[in-house]
Amino acid sequence: EGMTIVELAKRTGESIRVLQDILVNVGEKVDSEFDPLSIDVAELVAMEVGVNVRRLHSNEGAKVLVRPAVVTVMGHVDHGKTSLLDALRETSVAAKEAGGITQHIGAFVVSMPSGASITFLDTPGHAAFSAMRARGAAVTDIVVLVVAADDGVMPQTLEAMAHAKAAGVPIVVAINKCDKPAADPERVRLQLASEGLPLEEMGGDVQVVEVSAVNKLGLDKLEECLLLQAELMDLKARIDGPAQAYVVEARLDRGRGPLATAIVKAGTLLCGQHVVVGSEWGRIRAIRDVVGKLTERGIPAMPVEIEGLRGLPMAGDDIVVVDSEERARMLSAGRKKKHEKNRLMKVDEEKIDTLDSSEEEGPKRVEMPVIVKADVQGTVQAVTDSLKTLNSPQVFVNVVHVGVGPISQSDVDLAQACGACIVGFNVRSPPISVSQAATRAGIKVKVHRVIYHLLEDMGSLIVDKAPGIF
Ligand code: GDP
Repeated sequence: EGMTIVELAKRTGESIRVLQDILVNVGEKVDSEFDPLSIDVAELVAMEVGVNVRRLHSNEGAKVLVRPAVVTVMGHVDHGKTSLLDALRETSVAAKEAGGITQHIGAFVVSMPSGASITFLDTPGHAAFSAMRARGAAVTDIVVLVVAADDGVMPQTLEAMAHAKAAGVPIVVAINKCDKPAADPERVRLQLASEGLPLEEMGGDVQVVEVSAVNKLGLDKLEECLLLQAELMDLKARIDGPAQAYVVEARLDRGRGPLATAIVKAGTLLCGQHVVVGSEWGRIRAIRDVVGKLTERGIPAMPVEIEGLRGLPMAGDDIVVVDSEERARMLSAGRKKKHEKNRLMKVDEEKIDTLDSSEEEGPKRVEMPVIVKADVQGTVQAVTDSLKTLNSPQVFVNVVHVGVGPISQSDVDLAQACGACIVGFNVRSPPISVSQAATRAGIKVKVHRVIYHLLEDMGSLIVDKAPGIF
């Protein structure tokens, strides 16, 4: 039945001592390393060390059903992300029922005549996307990349592409503003293709749809493409058992207290359950659906608003169901303590991590993810090429994103999401707010005007990451 802490250590690759600390945090007393833990407790502990529950939770006999896709809209500013979401929201049944007015809870669902549905996250832009990803929340299944037909591919279009790629999330392109006389969707296609996006009509697998958010043209086609993409991905989820869910939005309501919109990834969230949400906790007092109607449960890919938390969680926080208030309180306290400790010891831990992993399997190739920003396209290429000269059997400089222009907040977001450092060449130093954000997130930012100095600096970053590598 249960699993001992020794077995759990083997399964999670975590040390027994760390697991014991977590057990204490969740209020579980273990007298002997050989006492079996209940499967619930084992799962909880596994989740705390970042191991996916499903690996421990036997799916045997569990009901696994097709679930709707969760979609995020990204693209350059003013290309029509908000307008497109508005137009799509109007096609939702809920909007029709509610006479076009739905409350904003951070997500909505479009139901198709066939019975299939699509869940849209209502916060456009990649800031939200990468903030969630940085917190480990892989909520989005598909990205709709909005490109204005009159404006074409712009810097944030490329950033959005980089975000989606880094997250391994497939893209469906919506060429928007096709109603405009200046619209040139063919040009957009060529631009996207030359940026390496494998469009379907050119033999790739990325679907492209021409739409107009203002005239509401092509929306049904876009929805069909999303359904097709979802079908290809064969999205399934276990619906029985404890929920695994993420917060997509949270707000404080004067009367009702903290409210969190959640998307369930697996299992079922029930009214009355005790939960830990990020480092907050509470007992679910009420669950509402996208139209604000009370419901008993939240099932996979269905956005629900939950009430009853003691504090305000953050977008991207995970929701864990536990079996008592006591445990919820302790797990929450444990996480708060851990966050605090992490913040203080971030640098030290990084060093220990690399040492640990090199110990087990001999010298490993150290990966150094890098984002390159430069003044013009030509220098971007030159910098990228010279960074690659640092590659060796021990070192892999992975250029995850390149761009022209100053280092921006979204570069910092992307860097945080993929643990990269940022290199600026011949660009101004980033604005104070951006450098502060980078410092807070522990991201290294290097700005240079001489390639040699840049390479020298990169070399020392690599040595920092893996002492003794050269
Ligand atoms: P966002 O910054 O990407 O969210 O873009 P918005 O949705 O705010 O749209 C920016 C501007 O483009 C607004 O003035 C919209 O009215 C306009 N716009 C959006 N979609 C369309 C469209 O399909 N056709 C036309 N003509 N204008 C559009």
